[in-house]
Order: sequence, then structure tokens, then C-alpha cells
Amino acid sequence: MSTSRAIWPSRLRLSKTAARTAPPDARTVLKDVFGYPAFRGPQAAIIEHVAGGGDCLVLMPTGGGKSLCYQIPALLRAGTGVVVSPLIALMQDQVEALLEAGVRAAFLNSTLASEEALAVERALAAGDYDLVYVAPERLMTSRFMQLLEKMQRAGGLALFAIDEAHCVSQWGHDFRPEYIQLSMLHERFPDVPRIALTATADQQTRAEIITRLGLDEARVFVASFDRPNIRYRIVEKANAKARFLDFLKADHADDAGIIYCLSRRKVEETAAWLVEEGYKALAYHAGMDTATRTLHQARFLREDGIIMVATIAFGMGIDKPDVRFVAHLDLPKSIEAYYQETGRAGRDGKPSSAWMAYGLSDIVQQRRMIDESTGSDAFKRVSIGKLDALVGLAETAGCRRSRLLGYFGEAVDGSNCGNCDNCLSPPQLRDGKVVAQKLLSCAYRTGQRFGAMHLIDVLVGRMTERVTQFGHDKISVFGIGAELNEKQWRSAIRQVVAMGHLHADSEAFGALKLTDSARGVLKGETGVMLREAPEGSRVRASRTKSRRGDLASRAAGSGANADAGLQASLRAWRSEIARKRGVPAYVVLHDSTIDGIAASRPATLNQLRNIPGIGDKKLEHYGDELIALVKATHG
Ligand code: ADP
Ligand code: ZN
Repeated sequence: MSTSRAIWPSRLRLSKTAARTAPPDARTVLKDVFGYPAFRGPQAAIIEHVAGGGDCLVLMPTGGGKSLCYQIPALLRAGTGVVVSPLIALMQDQVEALLEAGVRAAFLNSTLASEEALAVERALAAGDYDLVYVAPERLMTSRFMQLLEKMQRAGGLALFAIDEAHCVSQWGHDFRPEYIQLSMLHERFPDVPRIALTATADQQTRAEIITRLGLDEARVFVASFDRPNIRYRIVEKANAKARFLDFLKADHADDAGIIYCLSRRKVEETAAWLVEEGYKALAYHAGMDTATRTLHQARFLREDGIIMVATIAFGMGIDKPDVRFVAHLDLPKSIEAYYQETGRAGRDGKPSSAWMAYGLSDIVQQRRMIDESTGSDAFKRVSIGKLDALVGLAETAGCRRSRLLGYFGEAVDGSNCGNCDNCLSPPQLRDGKVVAQKLLSCAYRTGQRFGAMHLIDVLVGRMTERVTQFGHDKISVFGIGAELNEKQWRSAIRQVVAMGHLHADSEAFGALKLTDSARGVLKGETGVMLREAPEGSRVRASRTKSRRGDLASRAAGSGANADAGLQASLRAWRSEIARKRGVPAYVVLHDSTIDGIAASRPATLNQLRNIPGIGDKKLEHYGDELIALVKATHG
């Protein structure tokens, strides 16, 4: 830490103490230190509030830009900003990125040797840092409390930031007992502003954070949970592998991404298959030995273009900003899980994809997992409800984004988001009443004991061994559905299941049974609209920009006019620097900054400075090299 401080002296500190005449304002810090031209969403309001000494709770999605909300006020206020975070792995990256921008930062957690920790503590007491990241268990020790008191006497405490504030929630997955004690901060240091931040949106968690942290008087800032740069696509599972390859080749050939699978075996198989196909794929699941897992995670973070094939064990605390796609080869267990997992794509705001393949077998499998779980009946009921909601999202013919946000209680303007498969190529709807009736009758006449495959055989009139064995070639429904092919029937069945007229009974090996609502369909009282099977309506590669203005501006500099040759040499240069310094590539420069340089080919330092992501320090350290690289690489 201390060597880093010597290399990166703080210009800011000087302006804070010496240049009393012109204190820096938030916009100036944003531009000079972080290199960004404008605030996003509620950032400006939050920063003003906290810099002015107010408490607040910030609800903002992953990638929304929570860090700046406390980093900038910490720089604007006298003293050190203390950031509590449970994600030890992230602290180091955050601190490296801050040092890189010329901010005097350090972290204190169990990864430091005791003499390193002592050095940091000493520097802290002397008021040498703008920001310090601390693990919660360390913060709450009496020793650290004394240190905080010393700090307050020395240079002051700028603020307390409580990151991942949902960890106070005893009902959530990430509960941290030490978080409960954080209310003490306010009792001991009533004049120090507190900012609690989380990406968990639901009302219950929000209320819990407020009571447990004593934030009743705090202002609450809620950003939209929309992730406009993520394009949602959900496809049918038949030929999932081939469809995934199509998607990969067309949209993300060299990109970093995450593929989620349900089982460890499928993770291994999928990774091996992708390697055979010539991709840099790695596996990650809880059954692997720690060393390999750690290695794979480090490679994913540090190298360009790695595909991580993983179970959900992978992801908590991965804040790699340039993950370009998240693919689900199996259905997640709820919309919350889907939102959180897909949310790991595109934290840097650049166009990214959430791609999922799902089929009837997924529903059957998930139902079985719920039914066979040891949870209470209430738990099972809630889980089934969540699964149904997700199936509804997968089967909807409307906008995926509005369905997704609607689930979290957020209304969306307009019915077409312009950046999901259904909005980009709206599915054709047709009257499916007769089709649904045929299907329901077939399930009924065959005794509600068979799964989709057999029902389709009967409907299309196929004489399989099983069909003859049960005499189903002799019943009235045999061959009544020959107007649809197998694929169309599969799609129809999934939709009718999603509508709740049929359910897959996991105790009877996925046999499709009629529900109460099926009667209305059979009697012709309930209408049924069905999507055409997706044949031919596949959303192709097009990297068309969303019509949403903010996405276009966030993605500015990427795409069309970027110089590919220059882009490649900039990336190679970045990898080299990152390797030498032992930091992730994005700590050196973000993808969007590389794209910005490649698109505008700056010839002078002044021009370079106008590119988002280039602050004063980056300009000072890399400016000349970057300009030389632009000159040397011809378009
Ligand atoms: P969160 O913690 O909310 O998930 P981060 O604070 O890590 O998000 O920010 C996500 C990304 O967005 C980072 O790469 C960050 O540098 C970038 N970012 C944040 N605010 C802005 C802004 N105002 N302009 C441009 N980029 C921003
Ligand atoms: Zn849409």
C-alpha cells in the first residue's frame, strides 16, 4: 500500500487543504479523477446529499454506479471515507482502480499480513487516506473503534459507506451477523453521514435495512432497475447447443461471458465441448478443488475473452465490468435469480446479452427439485409460485423487460423496449383454442399418465411401440393434431403449461395433468392465444443499437466506427500492462474507453482527455503511450 501511495501522490488532498479558494465540486472530481463527463441517474443527487452530510439508502441495480456515490463525497469531504464491504475479493480490485485514478485508498481485511495491516492502520490514524475498505468483522472490533476515534481526531471521518446493505437482512441469502452491529456506527459517530447501498430491490429487505441500521431519517434514492444495455433473449431448448453456438458466433465470438448450468456434470461437459469448438472455456463449480477454482476465477477476471461455465456457485461478488453475455442452459429457479444472474452482464453499460434456452423438461425438473426438497409446505408453495412466474416470463409474447421489471413492481414506459427478442421481432399470435382443446383432450383420454413426448405421438398419429402397447392408436384423439409438427406441438404444450391449464406432475415422471382451469378451455369458455413456433423468427446477430437514448450514449464509441486494428493493439497493450502490474485488464482501461480511443483516434493529449474513462492520472501515466499507439496503428 505505502509504495503505491508514493507513486500516486494525491492531487486532490492538496486541493482539499491548500486551495481553499476553489474547493472541487462533484462534476470536476467526476471528470478529473474518474474521467467521466456526466452523472448517471440519481448519482448527482445522492452525492450532493451525502457530501452535505446527509444519511441515505441507495437502491441501484448492479452496474448502476453505486461506488461513485460514496467515493466522490469521500473526496469532497474532509477526512477519510470508511467503506464496509463483505466482499473481500472485490476490495483489492476497487482499491487498485482508485490508486490508478490517483485516489489514496487502502483496504483492511484478512488477506493482509499483520505488519501490512499495521502499516495501513498507522497511515489511517494519520489521516493519509481518502478511502479505506474494511471487512465488517474487523470494523466492529474495539481496536478498530479506537482507531476510528483517533482518525476523527486527526483528519476527520468523511463518511461511512455500508455496501451490500442487504446483508443485514436475516431473511436473505447473504445474511452477515456482523452487519447487525453496524447501527453502532451511528451511536458512536452521530455526525458522520452514512450511506447504505444495495442492489436488492424488494420492499421487505428495504424496510429491514432501514430499521436495523437506524436509517429512519435517511433519504431513500431508488434508481430504475432496468438494465437497458442488456438484450434479453429466451429460446426453445431443442438443439440448445447448436443454437447457443449460433448466438455465440454471431454476437459474442471473442467476448467474455458466463454460462450457467444446473449440474456439475453439465458444467464439465459444456466446458469441454466449448474447448473442442475452439473457445477459451473454463469450468467452475463447488465440487472442484479450491486451487483449480481459484485459478479459473482469476483467469476469468484477468484474461480477455474467457467463457466461464458454472453452477450458481459462481458469481456472488464477481464485478468484472466487461462480461458481455450471460447464458442459461438450464432454467434458474426464480425471476429474482434470473435477474441477478443475467445482471452480471454488461456492468460497464455496453451492449450485452442475456440468453436462455428453456424447455418443458426444465419445468419438470425444477418442480421435482421443489417437491423433493425438505422445505415446509409453505416454502414449496412459494417456490412453485416463483417458478411459475419465471415460466411466464419465458413464455410471454410481450416485452421481456416490462415483464421482468413489472415483477419487481416497476412500471415501464411504452410496451416496446426495442432490446428484447419479442420487441425486436414480435411473435405472431394466433387463436389456439382448438389446438389447446385437442391437447387437453388427448391428455385426458390417455388417462393423464403421460408426458409431452407420448402425447405428441398420439396427436400427430405416430404408431410408436408405446402407442400400440397402450392401444392409443384406437382412441378418438389419435391423429387429430396432424396439422402441427412435433416442434409446434412442443411449443404449444409449453405455453398451455405456462398458462396453467396443464401441469407437469413430478411425482408421476412429468405426466401432464389437467388443472381446474382446463375445463373452461375444453368447454370453449376460455380463449387461448398461442405464439407461432419460433421457426424463422429467430433474432439474428444484429448489433443494432437500442432506440433508447441513454443506451446509445452509454455505448457511445463502441461499434460501427471503431477501428478494429487499433482496438486489437490497444487491447494487447492493455493486457501487457495489466500482466506486468498484476491487476485485471479493466483496472487499466475499460472496454468502453478502448473503444472510444479506437473510434476517435486522438492525436493529442487534449483529445485523449475527452474520452470517457480517461482522468488526469490515466492521462499522465498512459497518455503518451496511447497517442503513440494510435499513430503507429493505421486504420
Ligand atoms: P455497482 O457497484 O452499482 O454495481 P459500479 O459502481 O461498479 O456499479 O459501476 C459500474 C460501472 O459503471 C463501472 O465501470 C463505473 O466505472 C461505471 N460508471 C459509474 N458511474 C458512471 C458515470 N457517471 N459515467 C460513466 N461510467 C460510470
Ligand atoms: Zn422488450
